[in-house]
Amino acid sequence: MVDPEAPSTAPETATTNGSGAPTMPTVELDASPLPPPTPPTPVRDVIIIGSGPAAHTAAIYAARAERRPLMFEGMLAAGVAAGGQLTTTTEVENFPGFPGGLSGPELTDRFRAHSIDAGTDILTETVASVDASSRPFKVTTEWGTTHAAHALIIATGATARRLEIPGAGEAGPEAYWQRGVSACAVCDGAAPVFRNKPLAVIGGGDTAMEEALFLAKYGSSVTIVHRRDELRASKVMQRRALAHPKVRIAYSAAVDQAKGDGKLLQSVVLKDLKTGAAAEQPCNGLFFAVGHVPNTAFLGGQVKLDADGYILTTPGSTRTSVDGIFAAGDVQDKQWRQAVTAAGSGCMAAMELEHYMAQLGERQPQEEPASAEPVTAESVPV
Ligand SMILES: Cc1cc2nc3c(=O)[nH]c(=O)nc-3n(C[C@H](O)[C@H](O)[C@H](O)COP(=O)(O)OP(=O)(O)OC[C@H]3O[C@@H](n4cnc5c(N)ncnc54)[C@H](O)[C@@H]3O)c2cc1C
Repeated sequence: MVDPEAPSTAPETATTNGSGAPTMPTVELDASPLPPPTPPTPVRDVIIIGSGPAAHTAAIYAARAERRPLMFEGMLAAGVAAGGQLTTTTEVENFPGFPGGLSGPELTDRFRAHSIDAGTDILTETVASVDASSRPFKVTTEWGTTHAAHALIIATGATARRLEIPGAGEAGPEAYWQRGVSACAVCDGAAPVFRNKPLAVIGGGDTAMEEALFLAKYGSSVTIVHRRDELRASKVMQRRALAHPKVRIAYSAAVDQAKGDGKLLQSVVLKDLKTGAAAEQPCNGLFFAVGHVPNTAFLGGQVKLDADGYILTTPGSTRTSVDGIFAAGDVQDKQWRQAVTAAGSGCMAAMELEHYMAQLGERQPQEEPASAEPVTAESVPV
């Protein structure tokens, strides 16, 4: 972890000796106890930004290919702990290799341990900006330190939108987030607490329809709660949802409150937005299907995004609009959004990285850890 009190950029005294190797910066001794100078930035083969299944899978593959990746795992980036969205869930029961399931934080701890074991260096910092205008690429953290790499893998994920509804939050005994309230029906819907119970989905798009149909396999009924008097979902998805005997739609309605017994969610208060009338109805599972926010703001428009802010990648590939920058996981995928699909695209990114590095001039893998022989960003020909 980098000291936040440290100087914000590499010192100007860092120089090279003409062969590309650095000489030690000149330090003038004086009486005041100054913090030590930040070491010159070593140019890495690859910097990975993010820390979910996509980032860690990319890191494991890149490390095994002797690229000595540097990962910025984020410091509560986008409000999510390092490790990604899985840190916000209790049980993960669909990741291969773990029959019986395991907790989200335990799985992400295992991802991290595996990455380190393979040879990844991890910094617990959030990336504030990227400079893709010249090579090597520069990555600057929120603490102001700048690092450089020949290639970047962006795996910063997306954050599921949650609604601020009394009782649906995380804090306090009457807060039922992950105790009946979820932002991922496909992930949590099959849990025993939802079996043969009345459930509700908030949303009006295709995702809400899909989630309702998925939940209808398990629950006794599913109410889709939608603010407007018509759905946004495609006609075909609407037809499917409406045709299902267990699914009903509460139009022009909103969930006003989530209520429970101190342990689990038991009911919701539904408000009719046209009349203002409120009614409590039994509900043991409340699922938000109100979209995701991709974590791409720090890219500052240098990589092409779609209208919703997701990184655009070449179909069947993790290549972005900038040669040498790859994107993996939910930050470029608004369709599948699962840990295993994110991990799969992380693997693709690392393999495409290998092709890219080969094209860069058949550069040999590093024999020494990059951190053992730092060079300045300016000293390495690309
Ligand atoms: C409540 C919930 C439960 C879920 N349960 C399951 C399940 O059971 N099974 C399943 O397969 N999927 C589940 N999912 C979906 C799964 O978590 C995601 O599909 C998956 O985590 C996406 O992985 P990712 O690698 O793309 O990124 P994420 O998991 O989104 O991680 C990205 C990470 O990058 C960090 N980051 C963001 N910006 C920066 C930055 N600028 N600098 C540094 N770091 C940054 C973030 O802090 C975050 O930690 C669930 C999702 C949610 C919300």
